[in-house]
Amino acid sequence: MHNLAIIGSGPAGYTSGIYASRASLEPILFEGLESGGQLMLTTDVENYPGFDSGIMGPDLMQIFKQQAERFGTEIKTETINKIEKIDGGFRLESGKDTYEFKSVIISSGASAKWLNVKGEKELQGHGVSACATCDGFFFKEKKVIVVGGGDSAMEEALFLTKFATKVYIVHRRDSFRASKIMQDRVLNNEKIEVLWNKELIEIHGNQSVESVSLKDTLNDSSSKLNIDGVFMAIGHTPNVSFLDNLVDLDEKGYIKTGFTTDTSTSVPGIFAAGDVADSVYRQAVTAAGTGCQAAIDAERWLDH
Ligand code: NAP
Repeated sequence: MHNLAIIGSGPAGYTSGIYASRASLEPILFEGLESGGQLMLTTDVENYPGFDSGIMGPDLMQIFKQQAERFGTEIKTETINKIEKIDGGFRLESGKDTYEFKSVIISSGASAKWLNVKGEKELQGHGVSACATCDGFFFKEKKVIVVGGGDSAMEEALFLTKFATKVYIVHRRDSFRASKIMQDRVLNNEKIEVLWNKELIEIHGNQSVESVSLKDTLNDSSSKLNIDGVFMAIGHTPNVSFLDNLVDLDEKGYIKTGFTTDTSTSVPGIFAAGDVADSVYRQAVTAAGTGCQAAIDAERWLDH
């Protein structure tokens, strides 16, 4: 039986790997089929301490990974589909193999949310996206909309101005929840127009997006807008389905922590770190911080 499994390869998972391998726990980190987590989908990361001129998200994650490997974290490109409690630990199944561990750190992160409106699923990959960094390039000289009013929506809209001629932000209220600095950049960008108090209710198009229907949230009237692309930036859902209710979740569906230590879950020996257990801060630096805590908590638990 191995000491410690780390599930997930974002800032939380890799930081757990760095700390746990330096503590000689010989952890195995399951990075999934796509390593690096949400930062792989961003461009400039300006607020990660230590990089005073900023760093590209994928470059930052490559450094995290190398640092975890340097101390002996074993990284497997496998996705864990199932965890069950067994005598003295946990059995993990990846579809490729089965493993047994005394303790587990869950740092499986969160994934983009969708609106579930008509046309959204059908046109995904044909003009509907949740990742401007991945797909923005296809919208050179086109008109796009971004849905949402948080930092992600601001970031996506600003990024899309590099390609699109016009970027609309569709937001359901009359104020943004994004940070002041990001709001200011958006409101001062002449390519961006904000459509306040509007909800996207349908996406139209055959092989590609042609238009959207919007509903005014103040008077319920609807309107149509011709558009080439739709980018969703309405938040995230924690990746917990593979846990099959093994650990307790909070009312928003995130893993509940703080039972005996900050990162402990309702099941002794299972710890959680990063966005999968955080609906509040959701920053790379806070994820890395809880990843460190989880590794220290796991080390002490294995020692008890
Ligand atoms: P968020 O802060 O939760 O914002 C989600 C936005 O989508 C909100 O404006 C919300 O509207 C809207 N929304 C949610 N569900 C909707 C629905 N069904 N229909 C229409 N609109 C909907 O999520 P986020 O922007 O992804 O940010 C998550 C966290 O990451 C935040 O803590 C943020 O600060 C951080 N972040 C930071 C940076 C950065 O520092 N550069 C970049 C990206 C993200 P309401 O406002 O009406 O609720």
